[in-house]
Amino acid sequence: MKPRLLFATTNPGKVKELRGLVGDAVEVVSLKDLPPIPEPVEDGETFEANAAKKARAYAEASGLPSLADDSGLCVDALGGRPGVHSARYAEGDDRARYQKLLGELGGLPEERRTASFQCALCLAMPGGEARIEVGRCEGRILTGPRGSHGFGYDPVFFIPALGKTMAELTPEEKAGVSHRGQAFRKMRPALLALQAGS
Ligand code: IMP
Repeated sequence: MKPRLLFATTNPGKVKELRGLVGDAVEVVSLKDLPPIPEPVEDGETFEANAAKKARAYAEASGLPSLADDSGLCVDALGGRPGVHSARYAEGDDRARYQKLLGELGGLPEERRTASFQCALCLAMPGGEARIEVGRCEGRILTGPRGSHGFGYDPVFFIPALGKTMAELTPEEKAGVSHRGQAFRKMRPALLALQAGS
């Protein structure tokens, strides 16, 4: 029988990306497929701590191997902010958040606008065993938005190697370079090994 894996997210885009990675080997279910489970508070100081807290809580509550991620944007000139607070950095929508960021960076020259998207992914077993993988994508914050794909800070995050912002990439191109895509690919062997253990 195929092993079941709970991906602790309600984001259909993330579920699709994971299903693409594990193919038919694992049955991926999301929080939308299960009866409600109380959401753990993301109060860790690192992406790893938050991902681990979520994965462990969901594995215990569901009895299924559970995968959880935490991610955000770390801007060097801001000492790593907004970091784990990326989703709550400003009231309002994604645009309000990246506009606040552009305001904070003001006229800072290009070479001092370096930043990285970071992601931690944790796979926790109901017995308590857990494994963490991280991914990181380096770039630079532009002075204005470009592109219409993606979400969050994508329109202001420029990847010099590609000459494009994250919001100018197709979902497939983004998965190929993104922090989340990298962490997913590193986790793939552990996810496929669930099959052997089931
Ligand atoms: P979460 O880990 O999915 O909760 O993401 C936390 C926050 O980090 C999001 O709400 C976004 O503001 C930001 N973020 C994480 N990943 C990305 C990305 O791939 N593009 C743009 N913003 C992101």
